[in-house]
Amino acid sequence: MASITFDHVDKIFGDVHVLKDLNIDIPDQEFLVLVGPSGCGKSTALRCLAGLEEITGGQIMIGDRVVNNVAPKDRDIAMVFQSYALYPHMTVFDNMAFGLKLRKVPKPEIKRRVEEAAEMMAIGHLLDRKPRQLSGGQRQRVALGRAIVRDPAVFLMDEPLSNLDAKLRVQTRAEISKLHQRLKTTFIYVTHDQTEAMTMGSRIAVMRDGIMQQLDSPQTLYDHPVNKFVAGFIGSPS
Ligand code: ADP
Ligand code: MG
Repeated sequence: MASITFDHVDKIFGDVHVLKDLNIDIPDQEFLVLVGPSGCGKSTALRCLAGLEEITGGQIMIGDRVVNNVAPKDRDIAMVFQSYALYPHMTVFDNMAFGLKLRKVPKPEIKRRVEEAAEMMAIGHLLDRKPRQLSGGQRQRVALGRAIVRDPAVFLMDEPLSNLDAKLRVQTRAEISKLHQRLKTTFIYVTHDQTEAMTMGSRIAVMRDGIMQQLDSPQTLYDHPVNKFVAGFIGSPS
């Protein structure tokens, strides 16, 4: 089970109050999109959930476990960024296998899991290449494949498509949706792109200035935005 709860979460950097009393409940296996203008705190929220930032107040739960003091590697989370963050000197295979090697997974199992993830992302023919020999789209597929290999309970994606061109973005969006259906894990997908949010999320959380404005289905957000900001941001006529 990997439901996720942000329970009155605050995050303060110095004198900047970035997340303000954030409350989000995400049921197991949901595809939640977190959307809002640049600088509103989306990445910080993901980084707090992944354990890459310490929260200032409140608590974060994964399943029924409070993870405030749990190390990132023990949170059963994989995170994919827009910058791919692949190791440049390693082949695609080794990039994907790296986390499993650290955990001393037996070699034959590593091979099987990497090949299975490569098949899902259609990158089986690229396993011997280095990242610099790949296109941007291929690199992002490798980054996704590397996350799949770890078989995490939760996938976090922080604007994973923003370095891709429009056509590739549309295609990869569809693939990420398919991946979610296939893996049946909890996904949180961060974007500042309203279209992406409205087409991908089963529910959408709209943030502004570190404050959650509304968390609802695309239809409800469109039909019943709680305020002018939400209406304007998602392009609702009301
Ligand atoms: P988003 O991902 O929505 O664009 P971020 O979470 O990256 O927003 O940033 C939210 C706010 O927090 C911004 O004002 C940013 O400058 C600030 N911030 C993010 N990380 C740090 C940090 N390490 N130190 C100080 N301020 C930060
Ligand atoms: Mg960000």
